[in-house]
Amino acid sequence: MSNGDCLFCKIARGEIPSKKIYEDEELFAFYDINPHAPVHFLIIPKRHITSLAETTSEDSALLGKMLNLARKLALDLGCRNGFRVVINTGRDGGQEVPHLHVHVLGGPRPWKQA
Ligand code: C5P
Repeated sequence: MSNGDCLFCKIARGEIPSKKIYEDEELFAFYDINPHAPVHFLIIPKRHITSLAETTSEDSALLGKMLNLARKLALDLGCRNGFRVVINTGRDGGQEVPHLHVHVLGGPRPWKQA
């Protein structure tokens, strides 16, 4: 179920434009609008989940699918020397957009402070 007012739900529905990389029935990936590395994209579930803290063991397959997609897209986008995967969670975790998202950062260093 998506959330009408949520920014990332709107991106997943195509109501707010984004630079889409990938989409299937469950996941949507797009380039971060304010990149902190030469390659910086986000993977989100289409279903509204506020953060990693709101997931349960029933979301294990979805979370595994998000990490598998992170690896696949990072390699497809040329991050052959490594990449970083970050899930900011909640206020103290520095999460600004309250919809679960995986940051994937890669490309030649140095990067801006993330
Ligand atoms: O993990 P956090 O919630 O802080 O990150 C949200 C990310 O969403 C930021 O990196 C921001 O640049 C990105 N963003 C985006 N497109 C938007 C709004 C935010 O890529 N329209």
